Amino acid sequence: MTDRFDAIVVGAGPAGCAAAYSLAKSGLQVMLVERGRTPGEKNVSGGILFGQALHDLIPNFWEQAPLERRITSRCLTFLSGKSSVTVDHTRTTSKTAPHDGFSVNRYKFDQWFAKQAEEAGAMLAPGIRVDGLLWKDNKIAGVCAGGDEVFSDVVIAADGVNSLLAKEAKLRKDHNPHEMGLGIKEVINLPREVIEERFNLSGEEGAAYSFIGCTKGFPGGGFLYTNLDSLSLGVVVHLSAFSKAAVKAPDLIEHFKSYPSVSRFLRDGDLLEYSAHLVPEGGYGAVTKLYTDGLLVTGDAAGLTLNVGYALEGMNFAIASGVAAAQTVERAKVIGDFSKHSLKRYEQILKDSFVLKDLKTFQHAPAFLGSPRLHNTYPALVNNLVTALFSSRGVPRPKLLTLLIKMVLGEASIPGLLIDAVKLVRGL
Ligand SMILES: Cc1cc2nc3c(=O)[nH]c(=O)nc-3n(C[C@H](O)[C@H](O)[C@H](O)COP(=O)(O)OP(=O)(O)OC[C@H]3O[C@@H](n4cnc5c(N)ncnc54)[C@H](O)[C@@H]3O)c2cc1C
Repeated sequence: MTDRFDAIVVGAGPAGCAAAYSLAKSGLQVMLVERGRTPGEKNVSGGILFGQALHDLIPNFWEQAPLERRITSRCLTFLSGKSSVTVDHTRTTSKTAPHDGFSVNRYKFDQWFAKQAEEAGAMLAPGIRVDGLLWKDNKIAGVCAGGDEVFSDVVIAADGVNSLLAKEAKLRKDHNPHEMGLGIKEVINLPREVIEERFNLSGEEGAAYSFIGCTKGFPGGGFLYTNLDSLSLGVVVHLSAFSKAAVKAPDLIEHFKSYPSVSRFLRDGDLLEYSAHLVPEGGYGAVTKLYTDGLLVTGDAAGLTLNVGYALEGMNFAIASGVAAAQTVERAKVIGDFSKHSLKRYEQILKDSFVLKDLKTFQHAPAFLGSPRLHNTYPALVNNLVTALFSSRGVPRPKLLTLLIKMVLGEASIPGLLIDAVKLVRGL
């Protein structure tokens, strides 16, 4: 085994696999180190993969990747007590559109992606935990892993939300609970035909539901995604909720599952998996420093995740940032300069792409999503309004606008509404 590489990529999630694949394709000597015995072993995602970035890297990847379902139905549900209101957007088309997304099982998907990197020429080293950066003369010279020193011109940190490497290089601080979410996820086993009947799907069609109003009033939301023969469901809740209140992760997911509009999909299903994972959701303001001499930080390690309430995107941001890091390293190799002056190009590539553009556009989304009324008052309001619209009680009814004003003023204060309206316009 050679102990010197052009690049060492730490972490075989979407960011690391994308970086290693791109570098290997360009003929660089690259090692992809993963602490799991197999890539994806412990990785957690909802997970809808928006596939455009991967399609740009591996055209028509859906013809070979182990995907679950093509998302053809997107639903947003407002929950309140035993009532729910769903906005359902369904597109029946036989054409695959990578941007509509696919449900994925990370255990299978990450293994496949790491194998693509390996087949392209990267050296995959699973079951090895990187303990830290290797420093020589105050410069990053590789990594330390399992008592060994492995040298490289550059290290790409793709080690996820708790990135040890970004912290050691002082590119990120300790996590701020106001910029983090805790995702709690279950996978429920159900026969394929039951899923297709319950969600009105056929073939590889898939449904993805996002829920608002299911987190006991804490900032957060729920999700329910169809896989081939299982369902992925869970909640992502602002981490600050756990420090302020005596709320526990298992209670939150049980509460979510107790809503009739959720439980009807889960009936007779068996629990296959339970997991919990942090989600960096501080947005643009919480993105870490992205590079220093000999080091680039990608994906969740850099805080490159977008949460806009109705959708959570991290895997596509991770892939695009991994590719951008690889492009930067390829050029650095050509000019023989791995200093921060050369590696700053990485930030520019991200600024020119959807990654930092979208995070900047939605930089105020976290402030809007943090409003407690969004998770309590407004879902109740939407449900009460729709209930009133579709009932005839044998008494005179006001017109729609009068009803709306009466209900809104009954549930929320004018200053609160104004604050949220401003946050909504600024945030989304
Ligand atoms: C509940 C939940 C739901 C989500 N839903 C979605 C969704 O629907 N769509 C979406 O796009 N995103 C979603 N996300 C976000 C998405 O999962 C992440 O943004 C994405 O996985 C980030 O990829 P990454 O490669 O940067 O990091 P990760 O996927 O976390 O990969 C990091 C890798 O590094 C390895 N590693 C860490 N430390 C070391 C070390 N010291 N040595 C060696 N290896 C190491 C880990 O084992 C892991 O394989 C969700 C997240 C959660 C928690």
